[in-house]
Amino acid sequence: MTLDHNTTLRDADPAVARLIDRELGRQRHGLELIASENFASRAVIDAMGTPLTNKYAEGYPGRRYYGGCEVVDEIEQLAIDRLKRLFGAEHANVQPHSGAQANFAAFMALIQPGEKLLGMSLPHGGHLSHGAAVNHSGTVWKAVHYGVDPATGLIDYDVVRDQARQERPRLIIAGGSAYARIIDFAAFRSIADEVGAIFLVDMAHFAGLVAGGVYPSPVPHAQVVTSTTHKTLRGPRAGLILSITEHAKAIDKSVFPGTQGGPLEHVIAAKAVAFGEALTDDFKAYARQVVENAKALAAALVERGFAIVSGGTETHLMLVDLRAKDLTGKVAEKVLDRAGITVNKNTIPDDPQSPFVTSGIRLGTPALTTRGMGTSEMERVAELIDRALARQDEDTLARVKGEVEELTSSFPLYQPQRPVATRIRRSA
Ligand SMILES: *Cc1c(COP(=O)(O)O)cnc(C)c1O
Repeated sequence: MTLDHNTTLRDADPAVARLIDRELGRQRHGLELIASENFASRAVIDAMGTPLTNKYAEGYPGRRYYGGCEVVDEIEQLAIDRLKRLFGAEHANVQPHSGAQANFAAFMALIQPGEKLLGMSLPHGGHLSHGAAVNHSGTVWKAVHYGVDPATGLIDYDVVRDQARQERPRLIIAGGSAYARIIDFAAFRSIADEVGAIFLVDMAHFAGLVAGGVYPSPVPHAQVVTSTTHKTLRGPRAGLILSITEHAKAIDKSVFPGTQGGPLEHVIAAKAVAFGEALTDDFKAYARQVVENAKALAAALVERGFAIVSGGTETHLMLVDLRAKDLTGKVAEKVLDRAGITVNKNTIPDDPQSPFVTSGIRLGTPALTTRGMGTSEMERVAELIDRALARQDEDTLARVKGEVEELTSSFPLYQPQRPVATRIRRSA
């Protein structure tokens, strides 16, 4: 059968089209507070939905294993050049399919299987791909982990140094998924240098804040930096690796042919678009607002009797300790879901509950800030969260959900006339 290449999705496959519409509706009408999520611009999404998906391009620009790569070569080179400029990096690889893929390829390039790595522990805010037992990184390498000081919620660099001296890891990793504070990269580098380890920063969560100039850059301190592109950086769902020239060849070989096959050039085109956006002054204003909003949300929650791990935030996210409210993360996530508020349950440091229950929720402001919300809306969001969690009855949740819809309808998402990425409202 000949495929009719010109039938739109809506006509060709109404079942899938309807589901996509439903998801768009969910994103439009809910309060998206998942710290790792964002709304990519229409331009980023447009780049992904293109015939670039058809092209095989194993290899790198100018060194491919397939013909017909002259256009995708230019696209990938544009993404690389913009990315290097954005972070001031010596070398950039834009092919990793995701953050976890970027980490696996980077670790494989830097240390041998069986060697030791030291990363932040998952229940203290690290990431699965940093050597958690259930992840392959935890079986390929001997992983040891540092946590935060349970009293302060902060990384204690003296403790990390002692641990590094004792364990002598070959690789030290900084960066995680639930750490709300600025990481002292210079301290980590001096620890790594002292024990002869390579220092890698996984900036998956805060890459957009670094790009926007509101979080210190790890690039001058780490030999290798990995990231996702879809969190605060607001690009397509994918990954990247930056490195000093010394590791460039090993990183490239480790991504392809080491761990991946053909690159996703349609996604790489979308990365180029996102990096271009991140180079603008608008993006700097956005990043500033993300952090201001997080600080405002944390303060408004504290005012309502919620406890925040480490007492607050210097980033886009915060970890709410629900024990003072006699709630678990599991219950809070479910209740808020029913009110149209999307969050995720999250372990707090030394959590007495299991990872399926948890004592906390993680909240982040990147997505709501992209919609144009400011600090006054964060006050409102805190009030809605508080009301939903305090009462939890059907009536209250329905009323809160109604107010959520009212609030979100004032900040339209993916309206044809107003592309989302260019619309950054500064709060009064
Ligand atoms: C999200 C995240 C990743 C994984 O990214 P995926 O694209 O989901 O694979 C890796 N490291 C950190 C620190 C993250 O927060």
